[in-house]
Amino acid sequence: MTKHMKKKYSTFVPLILVFVFMVVMIVYTSKLVYSVAVLNSNAVIEDRIKNVSSLVDNHLNTAENVLQITADSVHHMLISGSTPARIHEFLVEETENVTEQFGENYHGLYGYIMSKYMDGLNWEPPEDYDPKTRDWYVVAREKDGEVALVPPYVDAQTGNLIISVSRMLSDRQNIISLDVQLNGIQALMDELTLNGKGYGFVMDESGLFIAHRDESLKGTYINTTDEGQELLDAVKNTKSGNFSHTYDGEECTLFVNAISNNWYVVMCLTNDELYEEVKSQVAMTIFISTLVLVMIAVLYYVSRKNDQNYSKRMEEMKAEEQRKEYETKVLKLEKDAADEANKAKSNFLANMSHEIRTPMNAILGMDEMILRETDDQKIRKYATDIHSAGKTLLSIINDILDLSKIESGKMELVPVDYDFASVLNDVVNMTMTKARDKGLAYDLNVDPNIPSILHGDEIRIRQVILNITNNAIKYTEEGGIKVDVGFDRKPDMLMIQVTDTGIGIRDEDMDKLFSSFQRLDETRNRNVEGTGLGLNITRQLAEMMGGSIDVKSEYGKGSVFTVRIPQEAVDETPIGDYTERLEKSREQKDEFVPKLVAPRAKILIVDDNEMNLEVITELLGESKIRTRVALSGNECIEMVKKESFDVILLDQMMPGMSGTQTLEIMRKENLADGTPIIALTADAIMGARESYIKEGFNDYLSKPVVYADLESLLIRYIDPALIESAGDHIADEPGTGERTKKEDKDKPLVLVINNSTEKLSGLKDVLSTHYKGVFVKDEADAKKFLAKHSVEFIIRDGSAPETE
Ligand code: ADP
Repeated sequence: MTKHMKKKYSTFVPLILVFVFMVVMIVYTSKLVYSVAVLNSNAVIEDRIKNVSSLVDNHLNTAENVLQITADSVHHMLISGSTPARIHEFLVEETENVTEQFGENYHGLYGYIMSKYMDGLNWEPPEDYDPKTRDWYVVAREKDGEVALVPPYVDAQTGNLIISVSRMLSDRQNIISLDVQLNGIQALMDELTLNGKGYGFVMDESGLFIAHRDESLKGTYINTTDEGQELLDAVKNTKSGNFSHTYDGEECTLFVNAISNNWYVVMCLTNDELYEEVKSQVAMTIFISTLVLVMIAVLYYVSRKNDQNYSKRMEEMKAEEQRKEYETKVLKLEKDAADEANKAKSNFLANMSHEIRTPMNAILGMDEMILRETDDQKIRKYATDIHSAGKTLLSIINDILDLSKIESGKMELVPVDYDFASVLNDVVNMTMTKARDKGLAYDLNVDPNIPSILHGDEIRIRQVILNITNNAIKYTEEGGIKVDVGFDRKPDMLMIQVTDTGIGIRDEDMDKLFSSFQRLDETRNRNVEGTGLGLNITRQLAEMMGGSIDVKSEYGKGSVFTVRIPQEAVDETPIGDYTERLEKSREQKDEFVPKLVAPRAKILIVDDNEMNLEVITELLGESKIRTRVALSGNECIEMVKKESFDVILLDQMMPGMSGTQTLEIMRKENLADGTPIIALTADAIMGARESYIKEGFNDYLSKPVVYADLESLLIRYIDPALIESAGDHIADEPGTGERTKKEDKDKPLVLVINNSTEKLSGLKDVLSTHYKGVFVKDEADAKKFLAKHSVEFIIRDGSAPETE
């Protein structure tokens, strides 16, 4: 059975059952109603007949009583010898009394008394009137002292039906009689109907209608026809009760009651009349039942439909829910897949970075060796080109890594207190020459009121300023650039605005400006180096720091990039006239001679890549520092067990044991205690200085190793007593310093005790003209140095120069 058919059956079967039940109910109730109605009608009719019967009986009894009393009185009068005149007088009086007391129907006492007819109404009989021949006289004698009822007759004068009641006195001579009119009985015929239907009559045993609904039949006989005779016989046979009979061609039911004097009270109803009532009741019952059935069916149908609609809706909702659930699952799977892919991408980039940085270390290192050792101009040119291409490649890798870090949510800000002038120095150092090389004006306006020390992520601030400044130079061929630096209060906000007179940006390109890998105006910019990543990173960094970047540009005329980044002021001392300081320091720079010579120092370099080991060893050649190498963490541990070193450069990513694991073991086993251990890493994603320090390293150096960075790091960590010569090695951030290499052995020594590289940068410009600066990180190192050297004066952290 199909689902559809099942549904249909389940709808109709209950309806059919209800229908059958209702039909049975209707038949049963109809029968019940019918029989109750018939019984009810019969009871009503019989009641009425009995009522009429008793009224008719009353009528006759009253007449009999009046007659008895009058007869007894006349009898006494006769015994007491009353005269005939007196008795006649009595009859007249009594006639009046009776009429007065019982009504017009009882009218006229008369009799045959003392052999003479006497009349209470003083009626004078005609001459030939012989009382002894009259019915009342004859019947009374026949009844011999009992009350006799003379058959009714029609009064010739009035046309009324009259009955006489008479009695013979006990002297068997005299007879007294009373006439009674039967009009009162006729009035009762109105009672003999059932709601106006049918008719009734009263007849005597001879078939004379004493009263009839049809008054014209009163006084006639029923048995003038055979049919009438049959009916009379049937009535007489029944006496009391009912029977069916065909009369006047119609099926009738006759209700009969016999009363005294052999009279019969009869009521006749045609069957149609009798059952019309019953039928209408049954019809009403059927109608109501059918109505109820129809209502039940309709209600059932409606509720069934509602039910179906409801379950359909429920099913739809369920389906919808399932669909949504499915979609959510699919979305989640898609998102998981996307996350997974993103993660894979980030990992890929991190690995690529490592893989590319490692050979780059060798390339740039070896290149530097070539530059150092050759005087051949051609080869120097090639090496310089390699150097510049290598740097570009590194910056691209750094951009890609930054972006992947931002996208994977791994970019973390490292807020520190920093010297803002030092950040500016770096930016200016890296951009001013480029601008001037291109023949562009470089206009720098720094608000002298900028607080000297700010709190924020110094590296990212530098990156943001550097990027928009570099772009301005890159995309400007004529005119120049202007860098405005300011600081707003409430809230503290660093503001950098770079304006150029470059190619500008088309309005329609504005939207694409910050999309990754999106370069604009490609034909024009074909020769400009770039990846289309810089601005995207810049904006994301600015926003991460709670700031914003805003661009206004006119195509062909130039652009204005404005960056606003909240930076807290830590030291309110104003930065002062920065431009003047800058000019001075640039003039002095070329004379400054950096050089590290420490033949008594010994360092251990740990790296699984032999080329890297060779590069670092070669780079350190001129410093005369003794170098030992290890190709793995294990080898490193074995070596530190046997020998002690002044500094250990420990590579991070090595097969087998990583740098961190090697460090852990050394720390646990108290190996190389007190020896500064520097992380060497190509993994820029993990490259934050803080995270390496957290792991227990003293510092970190990122690959490819730039000699200037290596040198300044070693100066910071090698015991100053071991250093024979150390030039201007104020530690710049990796990769930012440009070094001059002139020796300056003869200048007096100045010892600077400070471990904040930022603070030192200001000092280097001041000192370099007349002194050779030696920088130590704390008092202990200073003591060691002072034990073997004499210095011109010492500069301590934050204090003014004091001469010894
Ligand atoms: P790119 O590495 O190409 O410089 P950026 O993300 O820094 O990437 O810049 C995206 C694009 O925006 C550039 O390719 C260039 O077309 C346009 N652009 C950026 N700065 C400027 C500027 N100062 N003037 C004109 N166009 C610029």
